[in-house]
Amino acid sequence: MAILEVGCCGAYCKTCPELIDKHCKGCKIGYADGTRDIAKAKCKMKVCCIQKGLNACADCKSFPRCETIQNFHNKKSYKYKKYKESSEFIRERGYKAFLKLADTWTRAYGKLR
Ligand code: SF4
Ligand code: SF4
Repeated sequence: MAILEVGCCGAYCKTCPELIDKHCKGCKIGYADGTRDIAKAKCKMKVCCIQKGLNACADCKSFPRCETIQNFHNKKSYKYKKYKESSEFIRERGYKAFLKLADTWTRAYGKLR
């Protein structure tokens, strides 16, 4: 089952104020039902992840050595570090445990332990 609220990079769309305020359409929402066109997406991770039929990069067997996701996660800003942490949490503990915590957040990332 597709988990649309989890962004491919590990950002959590459902609790992100940008989505709630309708300033952003979310990472993956709208591609499956045809209201958005993946061919027009600019984010490399999103294009790759959706074309592979994955929920997120966290599900990808190439995750540990993929330069696209690793370069993104290693960028200098707190949020990228948190998206990495979320992706690693999903890899270790799965979506059910992740969503239980993520649904309590007030932005696209938050506490995981
Ligand atoms: S950076 Fe890319 S993968 Fe991450 S939420 Fe935005 S569109 Fe999705
Ligand atoms: S190859 Fe890299 S960008 Fe593509 S789905 Fe896997 S981890 Fe994400």
